[in-house]
Amino acid sequence: MKAIGEIEYEIKQCVGCGYCCLTAPCFESVVEYELDRLDQKCPGLVWSDEEAMFRCELMLKPGEEGKSFRNKLAAGAGCSSSLFNQYRDGMLVKKGGEVGEAQ
Ligand code: SF4
Ligand code: SF4
Repeated sequence: MKAIGEIEYEIKQCVGCGYCCLTAPCFESVVEYELDRLDQKCPGLVWSDEEAMFRCELMLKPGEEGKSFRNKLAAGAGCSSSLFNQYRDGMLVKKGGEVGEAQ
């Protein structure tokens, strides 16, 4: 549980449902893949059979480049779109977790 002043909130874990990236490509995606429309699917969003989740190709890059993307894209900071997100809820259920699960 975290708090801003007296308001408490929970950070929800990213479970790789892909919803945020399927909804709109991020700034890094637009720059790296030279997208000219925000309704284009991000080419960096890849499905991992092994992990049964979506992953970001930019954040998976090796070395300093990958580290820089992970920093810019706030890897590890939790889900950016956890409210009323049926994609995330569905992924949690598939993975044996519970809807509303916190990090
Ligand atoms: S670059 Fe990565 S974080 Fe950005 S939209 Fe594509 S998959 Fe998502
Ligand atoms: S919507 Fe949340 S859980 Fe789904 S990929 Fe984005 S950050 Fe992860």
